[in-house]
Amino acid sequence: MQATTLKGKTALVTGSTSGIGLGMAKAFAAQGSNLIFNGFGDAREIEALQTSVKQEYGVQVAYHNADMSKPSEIEAMMRFAEEKFGGVDILVNNAGIQYVANVEDFPVEKWDAIIAINLSSAFHTTRLALPSMKRKNWGRIINIASAHGLVGSVQKSAYVAAKHGIVGLTKVTALENAHTGITCNAICPGWVLTPLVQKQVDARAAQQGISVEEAKKGLVAEKQPSGEFVTPEQLAGLAVFLCSDAASQVRGAAWSMDGGWTAQ
Ligand code: NAD
Repeated sequence: MQATTLKGKTALVTGSTSGIGLGMAKAFAAQGSNLIFNGFGDAREIEALQTSVKQEYGVQVAYHNADMSKPSEIEAMMRFAEEKFGGVDILVNNAGIQYVANVEDFPVEKWDAIIAINLSSAFHTTRLALPSMKRKNWGRIINIASAHGLVGSVQKSAYVAAKHGIVGLTKVTALENAHTGITCNAICPGWVLTPLVQKQVDARAAQQGISVEEAKKGLVAEKQPSGEFVTPEQLAGLAVFLCSDAASQVRGAAWSMDGGWTAQ
């Protein structure tokens, strides 16, 4: 793969205080990109995270606390990006939550929150990032979908609907910008052991009366032929590739990194 440098670019990774988003943010900083962190967490830890990334990679780092379920806060974050960095060059729509229940038991407020955070937020950031990307005729929009953007699983109606939706949004955004230097692609991870999945592991261990280690193995084995978790670092490697010149004709793809889950 061709070496890539993102020096002078600005990356906004939503939900980058944890898990996959944090892995991606660090990988972009390692390529020289300035960074805007977003996501919830302890204020002091977020401050320390910014300082350590700034020191380690010598890039400019900022943080915006927009709640991705609220369009007005997303608008404020995008204005902040415009004022501080002259816009966002690399937009990673990653913030996401999960909730599991059968459709007839699914709490309406959980449905609304999942659609807002996992799907609508990407519409808002994308519509607000595109004008400056178009001015520069360069941009990379990476939507973190899921294997659940391609196939379903029981008890995940809102999540599966949102992730299928974001794959659709990816295709349309890619097509509308196909004649420009702006690409839009989705990454579809399988199981990644982040706090979002740890909750499901813990619930499984409690339900089945098994150890957390056994629950982890069972969860992965059910879906992923490799029997292994995908890591945030592996996903970050793919995201960095999608930002390279070598990937400039990858447009509208839903790229799986799922240990074989959706090959079955
Ligand atoms: P995580 O829980 O570790 O991180 C989620 C991030 O989103 C955190 O930074 C959190 O603060 C932020 N967030 C949540 N709600 C928010 C809100 N309203 N506003 C702003 N930020 C908010 O989860 P993760 O596993 O790293 O998930 C990241 C993305 O990857 C999600 O979109 C998820 O659906 C997707 N994904 C995860 C897996 C997996 O197995 N972990 C698999 C496929 C896809």
